[in-house]
Amino acid sequence: MIETNIIEIFSSIQGEGKYVGCRQIFIRFSNCNLKCIYCDTNCNADNFYKVLDASGNVIETFKNPATPHNVAAVINKIVDADGAPPQAVSFTGGEPLLHTQFIKEIAELIDYKIFLESNGTLYNELAAIIDCIDIISMDIKLPSVVGKNLFKEHQRFMEIAKNKDLYVKIVITGETTQEEFLMAVKIVAGASKDILLILQPVTPVGEVKPATIEQLLSFQALALKYLSDVRIIPQTHKMMNVI
Ligand code: SF4
Repeated sequence: MIETNIIEIFSSIQGEGKYVGCRQIFIRFSNCNLKCIYCDTNCNADNFYKVLDASGNVIETFKNPATPHNVAAVINKIVDADGAPPQAVSFTGGEPLLHTQFIKEIAELIDYKIFLESNGTLYNELAAIIDCIDIISMDIKLPSVVGKNLFKEHQRFMEIAKNKDLYVKIVITGETTQEEFLMAVKIVAGASKDILLILQPVTPVGEVKPATIEQLLSFQALALKYLSDVRIIPQTHKMMNVI
């Protein structure tokens, strides 16, 4: 049976993007294939993974590596304790597409919508599990964030993802250039002008400069020349001190 390392599982509200405010259960996987300058996520697994409450307090721990049956049982237990079903179960990371077989097996064990939060680069892995995914939150990672050009990977990813409930998120920092932003917008528009684009102002970490409101508004106006729905939404869970 497939096993993998989990960082944490928790029930909270979705703080970003199209489904902001929805109650979800989050499965955070270990490891990532990128290194974003603003990343504040711990991607390294421990010998145990934690089940947390929405304030980040540890409720229980379980041994790593975990099995899909173990994680499905934890999800069902959380739903019982919450007293209401989640809008979706969100697979996040790290990069969840480094764990495709595991996601596929959990999807067969639970009866909730499957929400994938991905950095939008591993298109072969997405293709392998696309049938079990309902909602995709896909990032476009700009060269100023990852130090390389990933537009080709994003383009191929989007071609596979666009037939699902897909939205695209671009984190805007003080260093984001109009040139790279426009390149990203044109890739989204090339897939469909009706894909929702979220501009997410970076939550400052370390040396990373925040975007100004003027920068955000001018990027939104620029994107609206190519796309029908472009929204500016910050990380709302951070404002409320929930995880
Ligand atoms: S893709 Fe996500 S988890 Fe990976 S380095 Fe970037 S912000 Fe961190």
